[in-house]
Amino acid sequence: MNIHEFQAKQLFQNYGIPIPDGKQATTANSAGQIALELGGEGWVVKAQVHAGGRGKVGGVKLAKSFAEVIEHATAMLGKRLVTIQTDSAGLPINSLLIEKIYAIKRELYLSVLVDRGSERIIFIASAAGGMDIETVAHETPERIISVQVHPAAGLQAYQCRKVAYALGLKGQQHKSLQKIMQGMYDLFLAKDASQIEINPLIETYDGDLLALDAKINFDDNAVAIHPDILAMKDPAQEDDKENEAQRFGLNYITLDGNIGCMVNGAGLAMATMDLVKLKGGLPANFLDVGGGTNVEKVCEAFKLILSDTSVKAVLVNIFGGIVKCDVIASGILAAIEQVHVTVPVVVRLEGTNVEEGRALLSNTGLKIYAADDLAHAAEQVVKLAEAV
Ligand code: GDP
Ligand code: MN
Repeated sequence: MNIHEFQAKQLFQNYGIPIPDGKQATTANSAGQIALELGGEGWVVKAQVHAGGRGKVGGVKLAKSFAEVIEHATAMLGKRLVTIQTDSAGLPINSLLIEKIYAIKRELYLSVLVDRGSERIIFIASAAGGMDIETVAHETPERIISVQVHPAAGLQAYQCRKVAYALGLKGQQHKSLQKIMQGMYDLFLAKDASQIEINPLIETYDGDLLALDAKINFDDNAVAIHPDILAMKDPAQEDDKENEAQRFGLNYITLDGNIGCMVNGAGLAMATMDLVKLKGGLPANFLDVGGGTNVEKVCEAFKLILSDTSVKAVLVNIFGGIVKCDVIASGILAAIEQVHVTVPVVVRLEGTNVEEGRALLSNTGLKIYAADDLAHAAEQVVKLAEAV
C-alpha cells in the first residue's frame, strides 16, 4: 500500500526525521492561507499523487509570492498528473503539500528496504540524489553504497558512519544522519513498511539535513494490523477495478492486453498468462479468484473483467481442488445473465465435479467454448480475440 508524501512526512516527524515546514491543502485559497501562516519568502507547491517524478512534469512548483502559490494551486488541483511512474491516464491531484522553500546545497539519496537476496533490511545511499536511483545504479554504480542490518543486532552506529562518509558528510552531520537512519529503521519495523525512500535528502547551507521528499510503501499483508496506516489509504489514487476487486477478496491487476483471464491460484494465473503470450496474445488482467471461492465471487470477477472495454475474449482456467467446477460454472452463467456479455468465453475446467461443471456450460446457446487442455484453450482464446 502507498501513502501520500504529506502523510509520509507526518510519520517522519513522529520518528524524529527532520522535514520542511509545510501543510496539506485541498483548495487554492487554503494553499495561499498556508503559505501566509508558514511565512518566509518562497514556497513549494507539490502535487500529492502516489507517484514520483513529479518535478519533471510540473507537479512541483516554486512560488515567490502568495499570488503565485494560489496560481500554481489552481493550475494543479483537479487535474491529473502523468509522470514516468504512472500510466498514460495519470493520477488525480486532489490535494497539495505547501512547504517553505529551502536553499539546497546538495541533494542526497537515502532509502531502506528489504533485500530479498541477503534476506536483510538494507539501507541504500548515494551522493547523487534528486535523480532516478535506477539510472544512477545503471550508469554509475560506484556512486551507490549499501549496508545490511543484522536483524538481531539492529542498526549499528558504525554502519551510519560508513554511510555518512560515503555521502561526504562532516562533523555534526554524522549525528544527524544517524538519527535519520535510526528513525527510518524504527518506522520501517514498527509499521511493516516494505520501502522508505528519501529522494532528495538535502543538505542546506547551514549544514542541516532535511527530508525534502518522502515515499513509503507498506506490506499489503500487514496493513490490516496497522489501523493508523490503513486510514491513510487513498482509493482515488488506485485503479477502480483493483479497489472493487479488493472489496470481494479477489486478486486483480489491470494489464494492457485484450484477453481477460479468470484463474484460481496465483501460480496457475501466471502460467495461464504465460501460455496466452506464448500463443501470441496479450492478457488484459491478472485475476486470481482464490481457493475457497463461491458463485458470488466468480460473478463479481466476471463483471470486473468485462467492465474493461479492451477485453475481446475471456479465458477461464479453473483447477477444481477446493473450489468445485460446478460452482465456477454456475458463477459464469450467473454473471453472463447479469452482465450483457458479447465476447466469446473459453472455459477450461479440470478437477472436482468437472463433469457437472461442463454439463452446466454445454448447450446454453451462449458463446461459451469448452476446452479440455490449457494449451488448446489459450490457442483458441487468442484466435477468438483476433477475430473480433
Ligand atoms: P519528485 O519529482 O516527485 O521526486 O518530487 P520531489 O519532492 O523530489 O521534488 C523534485 C525536485 O524539486 C527536488 O529534487 C528539488 O530539486 C525541487 N524542490 C522541491 N522542494 C524544494 C525546495 O524547498 N527548495 C528548492 N530549491 N527546490 C525544491
Ligand atoms: Mn523525489
